[in-house]
Amino acid sequence: MLNNIGRQELQVTLQQLEQAIYNHEQWAKDLTRSIICRLTFDNRDMADDAHRQCRFGQWYYGTPPQALREHPAFVAIETEHRRLHQLGAQLLLAATNEALGSPKDYDSFTNSADRLHLEIYSLKQELEELLNNRDALTGAENRIGMLIRLREQRELVKRDVQKCSIVIMDLDHFKVVNDTYGHPVGDQVLVAWVSYIKQHLRAYDRIYRYGGEEFLLSFPSTNLQTVSDIIERIRNGLTAIDIGADETKSIMVTASFGITMLDQSVSVEESIKRADIALYAAKKAGRNRGCVWDPTMIPGQSGGDVL
Ligand code: GH3
Ligand code: MG
Ligand code: MG
Repeated sequence: MLNNIGRQELQVTLQQLEQAIYNHEQWAKDLTRSIICRLTFDNRDMADDAHRQCRFGQWYYGTPPQALREHPAFVAIETEHRRLHQLGAQLLLAATNEALGSPKDYDSFTNSADRLHLEIYSLKQELEELLNNRDALTGAENRIGMLIRLREQRELVKRDVQKCSIVIMDLDHFKVVNDTYGHPVGDQVLVAWVSYIKQHLRAYDRIYRYGGEEFLLSFPSTNLQTVSDIIERIRNGLTAIDIGADETKSIMVTASFGITMLDQSVSVEESIKRADIALYAAKKAGRNRGCVWDPTMIPGQSGGDVL
């Protein structure tokens, strides 16, 4: 999952990808230049593994993070990239035999280059979007795009394709954490918590930074029972995280959770409001727990099932 790539790693990967794109465009220009001007060319371009030896290939088969390697848009690049090198080698072969490459071969080469660039640029755009939609501190997705994604999920609920639960998590007494240990330690808690949650989400679950120390999580294909179980497991894991600088200083934090289903009969905003009402109930009931929304809950008052 691309979501699991850290922000810094994503930044580095994007820079490498940009460099690799530039190198490949240079390669294509150099190859056509040496054919047209009848210059000596690089013998490696005739090799079977030319696609591995070019600078783009060195990057592609070398450095990218595992999560990117498994991504369909990244995988798709390989076939076109290899084909482009094979077509380039054919043109070079014709040139070394003093023959003219056929227009068909040349067109195949340029068409393949166009397709490859389209594939690489769409991957680049996807990585950029991911980076731009990330909260700088925690690496959770920020609110940009959250409503769009949740509306898409609601459409799936409407069509009976899949249910989706949403959860708002709010850290308990976080002001006290900041006041006692300092804001940077508070930041550390947020980073560690999001990192833990991301490691324990399923591939299509998401976490958004909804506000300061509030996060919205979405769980497609879950009902209230399964999401409640998931939240219990996550809550137990989170509260066991100790941010203390050494054995003498223990900093344990808890959080409360408001849980509801995305309801097709109301707007996404209304479903979020329900999760918020349930969160308030969890706070009222003593914090460090999850609470499921029910229609008898009145905004700003406790009630409903506490997990
Ligand atoms: P409650 O259990 O009722 O939620 O208590 P609380 O203290 O968490 O309540 P409140 O929402 O009033 O306070 C949230 C605090 O979270 C205040 C704010 O300084 C802190 N906070 C918000 N964003 C950040 C952040 O990025 N870093 C740090 N360190 N603190 C943050
Ligand atoms: Mg809050
Ligand atoms: Mg709070």
